[in-house]
Amino acid sequence: MSCYKGKYHDELIANANYIGTPGKGILAADESTGTMGKRLSSINVENVESNRQAFRELLFTTPGALQHLSGVILFEETLYQKTAAGKPFVELLKEGGVLPGIKVDRGVVELPGTNGETTTQGLDDLDQRCHKYYSAGARFAKWRAVLKIGPTEPSQLSINENANGLARYAIICQKNGLVPIVEPEILVDGPHDINKCADVTERVLAAVYKALNDNHVLLEGTLLKPNMVTPGSDSSKVAPEVVAEHTVCALQRTMPAAVPAVVFLSGGQSEEEATVNLNAMNKLKGKKPWSLTFSFGRALQQSTLKAWAGKPENVKNAQAAFLARCKANSEATLGTYQGGGALSEGASESLHVKDYKY
Ligand code: 13P
Repeated sequence: MSCYKGKYHDELIANANYIGTPGKGILAADESTGTMGKRLSSINVENVESNRQAFRELLFTTPGALQHLSGVILFEETLYQKTAAGKPFVELLKEGGVLPGIKVDRGVVELPGTNGETTTQGLDDLDQRCHKYYSAGARFAKWRAVLKIGPTEPSQLSINENANGLARYAIICQKNGLVPIVEPEILVDGPHDINKCADVTERVLAAVYKALNDNHVLLEGTLLKPNMVTPGSDSSKVAPEVVAEHTVCALQRTMPAAVPAVVFLSGGQSEEEATVNLNAMNKLKGKKPWSLTFSFGRALQQSTLKAWAGKPENVKNAQAAFLARCKANSEATLGTYQGGGALSEGASESLHVKDYKY
């Protein structure tokens, strides 16, 4: 196998391993301007650059939070922003031992002829953009591919298109020194049971790893960001131990031991649900040759956003809520979370959004 051996080989492996350090995980704060607008409108705050900057400064400057994080994913705008006191966010994160990452996909478009299935855009100028982002301090990247479960979905076309897109993205990132987070998100939407989600997750991950191998991607310098294996959003919930067994089994069957870490998305689970499911996976006995950690967006930010509500006088309380979720998820990566984080307002609320766009 001739996988990537270029000048960033050792750095990619070191950074991927660092991000997967047990006890730490990723804050996904890379909402596009449109998605951030929806978040801000939920607290009646205007979607202007100064408000997006203020919320992200609140997150990144929370006392004690960065020690629980190994990476933060940024949207392009945020990569170049500074704190109110003038320190670039990239510097602030690096000083706190956190690697800056960057969302590099350009969203999804429909695959004609399918029942609303999609493929992800952004490959055309990706090489130049990755080069530029590395120079600006980014050390890893994210590309979100979206699949859905339906009577005949995901189609083989959508599995192939999305697997190949992820693999092309991954090798372009590695050539430019960015660790690619490979994210084939299978949406939770639908009435299916957990076994159906497990089947689809295995089929998709098998195709993704075949494509990554075919594209000569250095697996040791990548991370996987999958959905947890759960019942659909219109089906009854199951215990965290059941989610843990099904998720770890799907990974054991499809995910090479060469990959250092799995960084789960939260996918519309409540903050507390995402944390207890991750904790259950780390408590589960059995073969787990990768670390199992988090790359949560909604499940790390929801109660913080609510507590802030756009008011400077609420920053302290909002930061306390963010620290509580960071600490809870850090413990979950070690399987030592005892619960209790749900006490903060909003932590048990479902964050599901149908047909979620990022
Ligand atoms: P959620 O954790 O809100 O699903 O988002 C994570 C993410 O980065 C999606 O691409």
